Amino acid sequence: MKTISLKRYPDPILRKKCEPIEEITPEIKELTLAMLEMMKAKNGIGLAGPQVGVLKQIIVIGEIPKVTKAIGFINPKIIKKSKGKEFGDEGCLSIPGIYEKVGRSKIIKVSGITVEGEKIVFEAKDLFARVFQHEIDHLSGILFPDRMNFLRRIKTYRKYQQINRTQITSG
Ligand SMILES: [Zn+2]
Repeated sequence: MKTISLKRYPDPILRKKCEPIEEITPEIKELTLAMLEMMKAKNGIGLAGPQVGVLKQIIVIGEIPKVTKAIGFINPKIIKKSKGKEFGDEGCLSIPGIYEKVGRSKIIKVSGITVEGEKIVFEAKDLFARVFQHEIDHLSGILFPDRMNFLRRIKTYRKYQQINRTQITSG
């Protein structure tokens, strides 16, 4: 199994843009499996390439009962969004300890390629749509606090730094 490690804010790799994947090689399949495994081990519901140091357009999404099994997507794109924003709690494995409300589109239309190389287009709503928007943002170097208004964004990053500092001093 491919060895990957989780990158945490403020690692600069989280701010980089990802390249599309041209060909689904055995390495890409292995990477997807490793990412699914890490996501599960960390109790996450999604993970994107840059979070494991890979600047490629790849995301994995965890099981959502009655909606989807855990699955990997290559070159995912949002091709349509419903109007307006719905607020819901979000967290991120790369920004541990922070959970805040973020506005996202309720329904989106997504295109992508499965790990088996199948092109798919489908509609996602509610939590499934939220996870997609969060993970696809990672592919452009966007983190969830960036989707907040200016003051909440500053406060959130500051809170994260404080938590981090406490952890460093205590351990
Ligand atoms: Zn994230």
